[in-house]
Amino acid sequence: MTDTLLSDCRVPVLGICAYSGTGKTTLLLKLLPELNRRGLKVAVVKHAHHNFEVDKPGKDSFELRKAGADQMLIGSSNRRALMMERPVEGDPDLKELLAMIDQERVDLILVEGFKKLALPKLELHRAEVGKPFVFTQDALIQAIACDDATVLPADCALSRLSINDVEGIADFIQGFMARWTPVAPAPLGPSCDSVERKQLSVTQGVQRILAMVQPVAETESAHLTESLGRVLAEDAISPVNVPQQTNSAMDGYAFAAGAHDDYQLVGEVFAGYAHEGTLAPGQAVKIMTGAPLPEGADTVVMRELASEQAGRVRFDGAIEPGQNVRQAGEDIAVGATALNAGQRIDAAEMGLLASLGLAQPTLWRRPKVAIFSTGDEVCAPEQPLKANCIFDANRFTLQGMLAKLGCEVLDLGIIEDNEAAMVAALERAAAEADVVITSGGVSVGDADFIKDALAKLGNIDFWKIAQRPGRPLAFGSLKGKLFFGLPGNPVAVMVSFMQFVQPALRKMAGEADWQPTLIKAIATEPMRSRTGRTEFTRGIAALGAGGQLEVRTTGSQGSGILSSMVQANCLIVIEEAIDQVRPGDAVWVQLFADLM
Ligand code: AMP
Ligand code: MG
Repeated sequence: MTDTLLSDCRVPVLGICAYSGTGKTTLLLKLLPELNRRGLKVAVVKHAHHNFEVDKPGKDSFELRKAGADQMLIGSSNRRALMMERPVEGDPDLKELLAMIDQERVDLILVEGFKKLALPKLELHRAEVGKPFVFTQDALIQAIACDDATVLPADCALSRLSINDVEGIADFIQGFMARWTPVAPAPLGPSCDSVERKQLSVTQGVQRILAMVQPVAETESAHLTESLGRVLAEDAISPVNVPQQTNSAMDGYAFAAGAHDDYQLVGEVFAGYAHEGTLAPGQAVKIMTGAPLPEGADTVVMRELASEQAGRVRFDGAIEPGQNVRQAGEDIAVGATALNAGQRIDAAEMGLLASLGLAQPTLWRRPKVAIFSTGDEVCAPEQPLKANCIFDANRFTLQGMLAKLGCEVLDLGIIEDNEAAMVAALERAAAEADVVITSGGVSVGDADFIKDALAKLGNIDFWKIAQRPGRPLAFGSLKGKLFFGLPGNPVAVMVSFMQFVQPALRKMAGEADWQPTLIKAIATEPMRSRTGRTEFTRGIAALGAGGQLEVRTTGSQGSGILSSMVQANCLIVIEEAIDQVRPGDAVWVQLFADLM
């Protein structure tokens, strides 16, 4: 890889460039709180004149540096500062400065004032300052934020933002972050094409989306019966030992292991009760499964191996001291973490929490998701079907999948194909929900209502993902909320939801590091694919005669055939590198089980 200014950067770097007097710092002072509010940690690198001071004469750190400390590092529990003497000719080396930022701890680096360097930038412009545009000389300018009085040249293809619209600029920055990939940028010059869009791989698409998702911040507590499908916000720490007492794993007899031929029977203990007193050597009690072991006993023999006669009991076979006994805290000790924060609560987790007496777990708030369908041809299923129309399937597959993901759904119905209606629906959706999902209207051939409406309200990219089905996908931020514009075809909607929306919603819901579960199955028929594209084929996986998991397709893979999703129990995931699948080849399958 060529060594360029940003080739070592692990997070997006965006320059903010303008002539002095335009208000770079003023904007940054408003932008930083807005980016923080959206959960982003930001580093700022600022260019300064050669002998700037951050320290004051009289302070120890100042005096120590003046006395000759070549590097002066001062730290407290809240803050640290490193001052280094590094005289260079001309401008400071930005690459070196960027390397000093702790990139593990930030999501974004903003660079103020290295106007001439080869990094992507946002240009700020105010007509009253009376300076020329930077973008006409710099192909790395990504957008221009200016005042109303600014007149852009007619051939300017950059997005225009208002320099006073902090939210709009924050939307743009989040869009920029989502598009960013850690590669060397093209050098300055006319050959640089910063708007070139290649097809994204499925993995790249998911990574870009996840980079923009922030988990919800609010928690609430709910009763266990209300917590199915929700995500724990705090570790579940066991307040008790499980089991609470050392107890018997069998119906049988408890005693202290020792060299006795038979034992004197001194009592009987049932689950939920205790034997009073301590067993002496040679004594035994009859004991039920789960009943606490009496003091003095350490071993249980099952009833089937015992013979009782005249108040005494003897056993067949060898006895191992300690056998058939469950120790207190053996399953979960008091104080141990039984479930980690970020765990989604399913049936087993509900049971486990209940078994610890944690009836009121602290949960993350459910993400709220607004959905609507688009298209004049789309009819609500409650209405009679109009000529040349189709019933709306997508809102219902979406509702089903969102419910499985524990989301709160705001159903905005079907929005007709006109820009004003679309703008109104998108505005309401973004105001009321954390995520907005639409279906239809994002393909190349579609009327442009959605695209125009989206361009007005947010920063949305139209991605071509190298996958089938479900290629067109619009994604970005809309008034600070996440937006997914899914394709119209019902199967494509479900597949794109599974692959792209699901990981985003799981992260937002607080689920830690979710990954789809993929398992290998043997293909029983040839499956078509093409290198460079991920194929999601609807499949039916079942155990074959040889005891191995096998998978066949549901047949025709048209992306409108919703019945094939009903027949299928998995997606067969044929990766980009594979051009063909023959019978007997192992393929990955992603079971529907966790979503449908
Ligand atoms: P579009 O992406 O809008 O061009 O839609 C692609 C195909 O999906 C068209 O045949 C649409 O009629 C169909 N479609 C769009 N929205 C829905 C919906 N909500 N339910 C069922 N089919 C739809
Ligand atoms: Mg349409």
